[in-house]
This record gives sequence, C-alpha cells and structure tokens, in this order.
Amino acid sequence: MGEPKVTQVADGVHFAESGSVNWVLLTDGAAVTLVDCGYPADFPAVRHSVEATGHRLGDIAAVLLTHAHVDHIGGLPALLDEVDVPVHATAPEAAHARREFLEQATPLDVVRNLWRPGVLPWAVHIVQSGALKPVKVPTATPFPVEGRLDLPGAPVPVATPGHTTGHAVYHLPEAGVVITGDTLVSGHPTSIKRGPQLLHPFFSTDQEQVVIALDTLAALDADVVLPGHGGVHRGPISEAAAQAKRGR
Ligand SMILES: [Zn+2]
Repeated sequence: MGEPKVTQVADGVHFAESGSVNWVLLTDGAAVTLVDCGYPADFPAVRHSVEATGHRLGDIAAVLLTHAHVDHIGGLPALLDEVDVPVHATAPEAAHARREFLEQATPLDVVRNLWRPGVLPWAVHIVQSGALKPVKVPTATPFPVEGRLDLPGAPVPVATPGHTTGHAVYHLPEAGVVITGDTLVSGHPTSIKRGPQLLHPFFSTDQEQVVIALDTLAALDADVVLPGHGGVHRGPISEAAAQAKRGR
C-alpha cells in the first residue's frame, strides 16, 4: 500500500518493494515483464512501479508468477481488468493460480502462530492489504516453452518446489540476478533475522523441499538476489543459500 520503492538493480531490472511484499519489472525497450503482483491492495502500487520505469500497464508483455499466494497474485485481477496479458507459471502453479487447489496458510494457521514475535501486527497489516480476499487467476497457463522465455529480460524459470508445489524462481543469467520469490527471502515482518533466510515453515507446503531447493539456487550463477520479502541481497547466491541453510 502507498508508493512502492522502485530500485534499478541491473540494466532493465527493477525491484519494487511495497513494504510487505516485493515484485520485479524487467524492461526491454517499450516492453515490460512483470514478475509477481503484490497483495490486492497493492494494485495502485504496481501501476506506480510500472510508471516509475517509464512505462504504462499496456506495455506489459506478460506476467510471470513465482507462486500463487495472495501476496504475489493479489493485484492481478485488477490489472487484468485493465490490460489483457498472458499470465504464466509452472504447470502446477498455474493450476494453483486458477485455484483448482489452495496451498496457503489458513487464517487458523495464522491464529495458532499469533504468539510469535511480529505475527500479530503483520496479520493486522496483511488483512488490511486484502489477504482474506479470495483471489484467483483463471487465465494462468504454463510457460509456453522450456527454458529461457522470449520476453523482456529473457528470464529462465527454474522450478523450486517446496514453498508451494509449483514454485519457481527466475534466473537472469546476463544480469547475474535471481528473482527468488519465497524460496529464499532476506527478511520478513515475522522474523527477527536479517539477511538470507527461509520463511517460517508455517508459510510453506513442504519445508524439507524448500531446503533442497536451496541447492538448486546455489548452483545458479548470480550475485544479486531479489526476494519476495526483504530487501535486495548482493553477494554470491551460493553463499546466500548456505547462510539460509545454516540459519534454520
Ligand atoms: Zn510471499
């Protein structure tokens, strides 16, 4: 909510932070790839972030999803009301975005964890952000090709199941960047840790798989991490993954 902070971290790579969640814009000339879309209440901030890069919503060529939790797809229904753009994710995550099933911490899971430091104010904030709004994206489809996508930024999806079954990160080999979604974050309102870390297990479908996915991340060639939560992390992703593993 409010104006997002938009930072250009590499040529054509823009990191948008709304305060509670992040998304990324990849620009190439007049066209934009949007990766994730914030909470429902973040839609004005998504629009603002596109404009901050000198573009308009109509310049968006496609939206890519790391995963289909409400804090990453919430702004999409409003965006799709304005522009008709394809939405892609891995096959299982596209089905998740269509809400053929739901893998998300329930309000009861959150209530059970309210005693944890930071969870109560975070829960109040996310409810204000529209976290309880049922959101789905009926038009979400799997990637049209394997490997590198023919979209601005030429992102390469890499499956990292665990946080959700179909979670993916996006590797930008030329920029040395990985958009890590919620597989690897650098902070969260419910965490007292700083720097590369895992989200608390109650947020994830299968935390053991998330830990395994860290090895997948560590094998990528990158020294900038753009997480779903927390700030930009600079440094070899292999070290960031190792730090997250140690901090468990
Ligand atoms: Zn998230």
